[in-house]
Amino acid sequence: MAISVSAPRQLLRRLREVMAEQESTQVRLNKVVVLIASNMVAEVCSLYLRRRDDSLELVATEGLAAKAVHNTHLKRGEGLVGLIAEEAEAMQFPDAQSHPAFSYRPETGEEIYHSFVGVPVLRGGDAIGVLTVQNRTHRQYTDEEVEALQTTAMVIAEMLSSGEFFGPEGVPSGARDEPLRYEVMRLAEGVALGHAVLHEPPVLVTKLIAEDVELEQRRLAQAIDELTGMIDAMLERGDMARAGEHREVLEAFRMFADDRGWRRRLEEALQTGLTAEAAVQRVRNDTRARMMRQTDAHSRDRLHDIDDLSNRLLRLLSGGAGTAASGSLPSDAILIARTMGAAELLDYDREKLRGLVLVEGGASSHVAIVARALGIAAVSQAKGILENIEAGDAVIVDADAGELHVRPTPEVVAAYSDKVRFRARRQAQYAALRSVPAVTLDEVKIDLRINAGLLFDLPHLEESGADGIGLFRTELQFMISSTFPRLDQQTRMYKSIFDAAGNKPVVFRTLDVGGDKVLPYFRAEKEENPALGWRAIRMALDRPALFRTQIRALMRAACGRELRLLLPMIADVSELREARALIDKEVAILRRHGKQEPKRLLVGAMVEVPALLWQLDEVMPLVDFISVGSNDLMQFMFAADRGNEKVAHRFDSLNRAGLRALRSIVEAGERHQVPVTLCGEMAGTPLEAMVLIALGFRSISMAPASVGPVKAMVLSLDVGEAREKLNSLLDEPTASLRDELRAFAAEKGVQV
Ligand code: PEP
Ligand code: MG
Repeated sequence: MAISVSAPRQLLRRLREVMAEQESTQVRLNKVVVLIASNMVAEVCSLYLRRRDDSLELVATEGLAAKAVHNTHLKRGEGLVGLIAEEAEAMQFPDAQSHPAFSYRPETGEEIYHSFVGVPVLRGGDAIGVLTVQNRTHRQYTDEEVEALQTTAMVIAEMLSSGEFFGPEGVPSGARDEPLRYEVMRLAEGVALGHAVLHEPPVLVTKLIAEDVELEQRRLAQAIDELTGMIDAMLERGDMARAGEHREVLEAFRMFADDRGWRRRLEEALQTGLTAEAAVQRVRNDTRARMMRQTDAHSRDRLHDIDDLSNRLLRLLSGGAGTAASGSLPSDAILIARTMGAAELLDYDREKLRGLVLVEGGASSHVAIVARALGIAAVSQAKGILENIEAGDAVIVDADAGELHVRPTPEVVAAYSDKVRFRARRQAQYAALRSVPAVTLDEVKIDLRINAGLLFDLPHLEESGADGIGLFRTELQFMISSTFPRLDQQTRMYKSIFDAAGNKPVVFRTLDVGGDKVLPYFRAEKEENPALGWRAIRMALDRPALFRTQIRALMRAACGRELRLLLPMIADVSELREARALIDKEVAILRRHGKQEPKRLLVGAMVEVPALLWQLDEVMPLVDFISVGSNDLMQFMFAADRGNEKVAHRFDSLNRAGLRALRSIVEAGERHQVPVTLCGEMAGTPLEAMVLIALGFRSISMAPASVGPVKAMVLSLDVGEAREKLNSLLDEPTASLRDELRAFAAEKGVQV
C-alpha cells in the first residue's frame, strides 16, 4: 500500500510537534517511532543508534518487544541493520529472514515480520544509526516511502547532532571524539596549544521542516543562481585572490552546480517537505555517504568540493554569514581551513591567533608568509581534518615537528605544556641577548639583520635587536593587495617602513613577482616552469613602467635618507646595466623636479642564478653590495625545486659544491672591496650561519625568530678556528660536510 504524496509532509509536521515537546528523550523517541509506523502503515518501526564501541543499540521501537530496547545490540556489520549502517545506504528486503545477513534475535520477537526496509541515519556521510520499518506481509516499499523514511532519518540526525537526544550514555559520536594525530607540513615555525576555530563555519540548519514548499523551491532556485553566478564571475576573472583556489577547483564547483542529478535530488528532498537548507544538507549527506565508500582518491577528493559547494549554498540561503573572522574568537584560536588567502588571515584579530592549520597550501604560499610574519605556528597538508574536527576542539600544532594533535589525551597535553615552557625559557634567554652586540670570541663583529615584507614585521626589528632589515621583500605588500598599489600608495607604504626602521638600514628588494608569486590583479600567462619563467627583474625590464613607479615611490619615501635597492634574479650583467639605467632616469627626474634626493643611493644585485657565478668580476664594479639568495641559488644549482618536499631535502645546504660557490662569491667581494651578505633561509640556522661566517660573510639576514639562536652561536664562536676547520674540509671528497661541522661545533662548545 503506497502512501499519498502529502503523507511525508504530514509526517514531518507531526515530527516537528513531537520534537518540540518538553518530554524526556526516550519518551520523544518512542513517539517518533509510533508516528512513523502509523504513517507508513507498518507494524514495526525501530531506531538503532551507534554506540561508542561501534555496535548498534535498539533505542526505540514500535512493534518489537519492549524488553529488547537498550538490550539488543548488533555488532558492527551484524544483521541487516548492521549491513545498512556499513553501506550507509537504504535497503529493502521483501523476505528479510531468507537474507543471508539476517541475524535472529529471539528477544525482539521479530520472526513474524517478513518485509523490511531500513535507511541509515547519516551525519557528515557517516551512519550514526539505522531507522527501520517492518511489515508482516511480503511487500515492496515504494520509492516515495523510502524517500520519506530517509527524510525522517535526516531530521532525527539533525536533532541528535544538536545534542537534543543525547543521554549521558548517549549514543553516537563516531570518530569525532577520538584523539587524532596528523603528520603535517610546516608553514611557519612554532608550537601552539589552543582551540579550533573553523574559518568557514558550517551553517547550522535549525529549521528543517518547510511551512511553504513553493517558497522553499523559490529560495533554493535563487540561491543556486547566485552561486553559479559567483563561480562564473570568479572563473572569468581568473580569480586567484584566494591562494589555492585554482581553476580546477572552480571548475569542479561549476560541474557540481550544473549537475542535473544533484539538482534533481535537491528537488526531491524539497518535495518531501524539507526547507531549502535541510534539502541541501540532506543531499550533501547522501552524496558524501556514497562517495566515502568509493576507494579511489579522486572520488574522495570530490568530497571537499561537495562540502564547499554545499556550505556556500547554505551561507547564501542563510543570508551570507561570513568567515569566523567576523565572530568572536577564543583567546587561543587555532584556525582550521581548507585554504586561505593571505588577506583573509589578516582579517583576524592577531592578538587571539595562536595557530593555523590548512589542508592545502605550500610553504611558499602567501598565507604561509603572513603566518610567519604574525609569528603563529602554521601547518599544511592536514588531510581529512575538516571531516574530523569541530569548533572548540582542543588542538595542538607542532609546526617544528610537523605534527598536529586534535583532541589530545592529557598525556600529550602535558608533554606539550613542557615543550612550550621550555621554548618560552629559551626565548627569554635570547631576549636577554637583545642588546648584546653579535661579536665572536675572537672579536669579529657580525651584522645580523632580519628579512621582512609586511608592516607588522617591523616591530620584530626592535624586538630581535637586529642590526637592520637585510631583505625587505616588497612583493608581499603587492600580493596581499587587491589592486596594483599606485605610486602614492607605494610611497606611503615605504615611508612607514623607513620611519619604523629609524636609523637602522633597510634593503628594499624590487618586485620579485612572477613564478609562484602571483598578483591577483596581474594576469600573466601560464608557464610550464614558472620558477624559470617571466619573473622578477625580467618582468621589470620588459615592463619598465612598473619598475620605475616602484623606484620613484622608494626615492620619494626615502625623502633624503639613505636608500638601498636590491635587484632580484640577475642572470646576466647586461640586466644589471639596464636596470641601473632605469634607476638613473628616475634620479634625473627627481633632480629635475627639485625633489629631495636620497642621501646615498646604494644598488645591489642578488646572486641567485648560477650563471652569475662566472660573471662576478664584471658584476662587482657595477654594484654597491651583493646579497646571496641561497634559496634560489641552491634550487638552481642542484636543479631541485625548493617548494617540492620530495626533492628539496635531497641536497644539503652544507654540500661542498654549494659552499665552494659561496666561497667564490665572498672572494670576489674581497677582490673588489664590495660587501657581500646572504639573505636565504640558510642564514637562520645556527650551524649553517656558523659555516657562512667561517666562509667570510660578515653580514647575514634571516627570519626575526632566528636572530636569538644565531646570536647565541656567534657569541660562542671562534671564527679563526672555524675557518681553519672548514678550509680543511672543503677540498675533501665528502658531499655533505654537515656531520664534521656539527662535530666541530660540539667539540668547541659552539651553540648550534
Ligand atoms: C632567496 O632566493 O634566497 C631569497 C632570499 O629570495 P626569495 O626567498 O624571496 O626568493
Ligand atoms: Mg630568491
